[in-house]
Amino acid sequence: MSEETSEGPLAPGLYIVATPIGNLGDITMRAADILARCDVIACEDTRVTAKLLKHLGLHKPMRRYDDHSGGRDREQLLQAMEHQAVALVSDAGTPLISDPGYRLVHHARERGLAITSLPGACSAIVGLTLSGLPNDRFLFGGFLPNKEKARADTLSGLGSVPATLIFYETAPRLIKVLEAIGDVLPGREVSVARELTKRFEECRTGAAAELIDYYTAHPAKGEIVLLIAPPADGPREEVDADALLMEAMEHEKPSQAAAQVAKATGLERKALYARAMELKAR
Ligand code: SAM
Repeated sequence: MSEETSEGPLAPGLYIVATPIGNLGDITMRAADILARCDVIACEDTRVTAKLLKHLGLHKPMRRYDDHSGGRDREQLLQAMEHQAVALVSDAGTPLISDPGYRLVHHARERGLAITSLPGACSAIVGLTLSGLPNDRFLFGGFLPNKEKARADTLSGLGSVPATLIFYETAPRLIKVLEAIGDVLPGREVSVARELTKRFEECRTGAAAELIDYYTAHPAKGEIVLLIAPPADGPREEVDADALLMEAMEHEKPSQAAAQVAKATGLERKALYARAMELKAR
């Protein structure tokens, strides 16, 4: 779906509209245009969206929506999309990314309704670009679980993935989460990207223990994206992998050695197994 001209009514359907994550200047021209021309805005909190609309000089009908809204609210929006342009926004950033909208989009697509998504700010991506951590591969993990054991299990499950891990975090939990990272993934570089695009924007990278010291002395405030570097960097891994495989194969079969090294380095087990067979054949 495309809005074609920037005048007149919009085609009916769903317009997913990213909004700023703090700095209102980050609204895109296209987002402002669609919000001005849509018939109704589905939003998380009408008070938050009203502030954005005020900044843009707009008055629009708003409907509160989140994925826990009853099926009736969703149904009304889906029916509206058949003859009206419905814009979906969240309180900040890109809708659906740890924000409401998934069910609405899922059902809209099932019904063959027209849908388009307007790109814009997303704090996970802003944090990634700012952190200086490897960005060729990354994994977005949303919010870590609140409970200690579940959090440690999640970290250990994702810890071997050869990608930078990105999580959403809150200031009150920061120290506990850094402690868990230090325990479960020792030696990994961590970035705390805080208050992105806002006045007190800050990004600190270091070992979990260093960050714990810093944020104990200077308690963090505001919103946080937490990033964890991949297990190790590429070229060194290849060299180390051979040595690790050889060592593991002193006691284990190639398949088990590959599984062990995969767990320790985050490298792919299949590739390690192939390499282990090559090494064994030498
Ligand atoms: N959909 C949003 C996005 O695209 O950024 C994220 C919504 S999620 C409910 C809210 C979390 O996003 C916050 O707890 C924080 O982890 C992160 N976040 C949002 N704005 C941020 C900012 N300006 N600086 C740092 N983190 C932010």
